[in-house]
Amino acid sequence: MTTITRFAPSPTGRLHVGNIRTALHNWMLARKTSGRFVLRIDDTDAERSEERFVDAIRADLDWLGLTPDAEERQSERLALYDAAFEKLKASGRVYPAYETHQELELKRKIQLGRGLPPIYDRGALQLSEGDRVAKEADGIAPHWRFKLDHDEPITWDDGVRGAQKFDPAQLSDPVIRRADGSWLYMLPSAVDDIDMGITDVLRGEDHVSNTAVQIQMFTALGSEPPRFAHEALLVGKEGKLSKRLGSLGCDAMREKGIEPEALIAMLARLGTSQPVEPIADRHLLLDTFDLSTFGRAPAKFDDAELERVNTAIVHVMPYADAEPRLPKGIDEDGWHAIRPNLSTVAEASEWWRLVTGPIDAREFDEETREYLAQAEKALSWSDTPWQDLISTLKETTGRKGKALFLPLRQALTGMDHGPDMGELLPLIGEDRARERLDRAKRG
Ligand code: GLU
Repeated sequence: MTTITRFAPSPTGRLHVGNIRTALHNWMLARKTSGRFVLRIDDTDAERSEERFVDAIRADLDWLGLTPDAEERQSERLALYDAAFEKLKASGRVYPAYETHQELELKRKIQLGRGLPPIYDRGALQLSEGDRVAKEADGIAPHWRFKLDHDEPITWDDGVRGAQKFDPAQLSDPVIRRADGSWLYMLPSAVDDIDMGITDVLRGEDHVSNTAVQIQMFTALGSEPPRFAHEALLVGKEGKLSKRLGSLGCDAMREKGIEPEALIAMLARLGTSQPVEPIADRHLLLDTFDLSTFGRAPAKFDDAELERVNTAIVHVMPYADAEPRLPKGIDEDGWHAIRPNLSTVAEASEWWRLVTGPIDAREFDEETREYLAQAEKALSWSDTPWQDLISTLKETTGRKGKALFLPLRQALTGMDHGPDMGELLPLIGEDRARERLDRAKRG
């Protein structure tokens, strides 16, 4: 059977690393077995859902290269939810309830006060037909709950957490539909998972108790539940991520110069028993992707680690990948000379300035100026001008180490550090090199 996974964001905000990780793992689960990856926009909440967030989700997935095979929108599938609702109503698995928010709050407080778990007491099931008619005559429209079957424990073999067991009597019958007819998350999601043939639901562990409820919904609708896996949550070094979610979206990452491949390499393995490595080739990540390596402890997201992975990925980035973002004039050799010095591709412009100039003027003392004059004379152009220059100067001046290299680097680039001079000097070229040595020797 083809694996079909889905990523189901609610378009009420931008994606952040936590959502991106869920999207990635679903994408990987599908791609690893040539399955299908569906983007499902959970937009039944008309008030909180915004079109700009739908666009942003698409753009972010595109930037990350997590292309969905299909896109579905819950707001366009309401007829399906109605049909399922009617079916469940007919089989007695949904029932109307009339409590107001305040009444429910009060019930909860009383239960908590008595040290009891705040489980819905099924008061609505005690109402007679006459009670219901009277309520509706008073203009109170019902909301609707799914009636959990209390007969047997709910069990599943979770792809990350192993054997799971829930006592349904310890769960509230969930409200699935509001009095105005609008839908809450729970039922539409199960209906869609059935209709789209989802084989694997992989999501955060904050959904574990939803899974227990949804397993009963699948069964009540006459379907075999999919496989479920719940990954441990992602936390920041300093605790919950929610405090700085703004800085953890794709736009912020892109602005910081983080490559999508770095984010993906990191999120693919964070929280698993496999080491996070700067692997830019997704096929390698797919080969090693395995839910059984996922840990139960919260995974820690650390920006410094992401930056390290990013730097390592930039250092081996092929020219073709970098080229569209490089200043004009950097060819493949130029890129190879510069990239070991970069932590982001954008920094290439700063380094390229060392080739094209203008470079910062440096001041040298008398003795160094004499040395630089000798260098200018010794400079002879070949395929390896730097190596030739160094060996000549070493012999003729007796200088070595820093005294040999540093003044030359400073005169030729205006900097104390930078790209390997053996690679840089051919890019600077003979004319510019002579000009720079000439200027430096004059002080
Ligand atoms: N829209 C839900 C969420 O963002 C989807 C959960 C699920 O994957 O079923 O939490």
